[in-house]
Amino acid sequence: MTGKILRISYLVAISALLASALLFFGVMYRDYEDGAFARLRAEAAAIAQGLGAVGSDYFDSFAPDDRVTWIAANGTVLYDSAAPAQLLESHAGREEIDQALQTGEAQTSRYSKTLLQRTFYYAKLLEGGTVLRVSCTQNSLPAMILMLLTPFLWVATLVLILCGVLSYRLARQITKPLNAINPDNPAPLPSYPELTPLFDKLREQNRTIGKQMNELQLRQREFTAITENMREGFLLVDCKMHVLSSNHSALEVLGGRELKPGCLLYDAECSQEIFDAVDTALSGSHAELLLTIDETSWQVLANPVVASGQVAGAVVLFMDVTEREQRERLRREFSANVSHEMKTPLQVISGSAEMIASGLVDPDDIGEFGRRIYLESQRLRALINDVLTLSRLDESSFASAERVPVDMLELVQRTCERLRPLARGHGIELGFSGADLHTLGNEALLEQAVSNLVENGIRYSDDGGTVNVRVEIDEMSGEPCIAVRVSDDGIGISEQDREKIFERFYRTEKSRSKETGGTGLGLAIVKHAALYHGGDIEVESVLGAGSTFTLRLPLEPLDC
Ligand code: ADP
Repeated sequence: MTGKILRISYLVAISALLASALLFFGVMYRDYEDGAFARLRAEAAAIAQGLGAVGSDYFDSFAPDDRVTWIAANGTVLYDSAAPAQLLESHAGREEIDQALQTGEAQTSRYSKTLLQRTFYYAKLLEGGTVLRVSCTQNSLPAMILMLLTPFLWVATLVLILCGVLSYRLARQITKPLNAINPDNPAPLPSYPELTPLFDKLREQNRTIGKQMNELQLRQREFTAITENMREGFLLVDCKMHVLSSNHSALEVLGGRELKPGCLLYDAECSQEIFDAVDTALSGSHAELLLTIDETSWQVLANPVVASGQVAGAVVLFMDVTEREQRERLRREFSANVSHEMKTPLQVISGSAEMIASGLVDPDDIGEFGRRIYLESQRLRALINDVLTLSRLDESSFASAERVPVDMLELVQRTCERLRPLARGHGIELGFSGADLHTLGNEALLEQAVSNLVENGIRYSDDGGTVNVRVEIDEMSGEPCIAVRVSDDGIGISEQDREKIFERFYRTEKSRSKETGGTGLGLAIVKHAALYHGGDIEVESVLGAGSTFTLRLPLEPLDC
């Protein structure tokens, strides 16, 4: 503003200086012309009087200020104050002479371009027909200007300095109160009443901006609360890969270091595949990939963000799919194991049947072959049944309607009676005892679980051993519950195996398991059945001395 005021002041001062100079020179010039003719006229009158009285001798004692020329009627110069008369040419035909001869007097001026001078002539007709001419010269306007240029420049410099100082002070005076205005709370200035409407407008705009800021902050807080509470990682970048927003979960994938809004995504210490996915999204396509970081599987989904028909950025979601991936892996392993387990009995069955059919078997051995086929088909049936049971448990397809009050002592008694022939076959003593306790559950599933435990007790005990089943009150999570304890004095289970025996197809004694018709799924079914009923399964064992499996189930009060 100071500069602008200075410029305008200088412009005004220079314009005023030039205008007044031109006016001054113009007036002076015109005044000089009028004055010159008046002076020449008076001088001519005085000389004419002198000539009339003294005659041509008048010029002998004559010392005029201006040039005086006396011309005869035929134009011959009789006298000239500036040059010898005989050297001068005839003045006949000169404008002022001719005019004076005709009208008695004449005045005229002539301009000399070479001398930059103007000459004023006054001619007067004297008695006797001669003409007296008086003339003087004046510098022309440009010559006068040139003459006065130096003083003019001095004055102009002085004026401009003064103008600069005054303008600077004026500008300071104007801008000082304006600079002191607080834009957040503009108070009207008494010295500037014309600015009051502007201040009103500013205050109004401040109020509007304040409201919009509050709304934006609220939205921002909402957005942050939503994204920070998301289990999925969230990342938003602009088209130049600058991070606009990210949440805490995303940092797990992006190297753990905080990504400030505005920083480049390339600052993150993460897999190149993520950068490639974001690049793909920024080129307008969808990108998806699976990453494993520290045993956690992340599914990365990158999509373009389109605004006004153009890709303005990319949004990336990181989903923890570890559980899903593990389930998928277990499912694949389970399918492979099931196929493998089925192969052996099927090969025995088809091989034996083929040999019988092609008459390669001695008629005496046919019975043995038939028994083998029967045993393997029984094993196959048991395997298929166990797989079906586990599939139903996996899919939670045991409807809750199937839950009924189950008398556990009666169920244990029934199971033991069913398995007594098997125990007897191994010379094993099988006993049960306990209290009359009920649970709410699926009876068939519970019977299969208890049966698997008792059967294992018999199968993994040496001949002549003992298997005991007790039904008693125990405690689970501080609540009373039913405990079905199956103890044997068999081969026992090592500490490291104890953690794994509930996994599908895990066997510590492979040959004994297969010899005794085990499928490798018995304990997995027991574990799932326990979880299905809201219970648990636990094992205590001493290698070579025996094991005790405890199946805990919620207690159903008898009055229910
Ligand atoms: P299987 O059909 O092979 O018996 P299970 O799932 O029932 O499969 O048992 C898994 C493994 O746990 C068995 O192969 C066996 O090695 C071990 N096991 C189960 N019960 C006992 C037990 N009472 N005593 C010793 N080992 C056992």
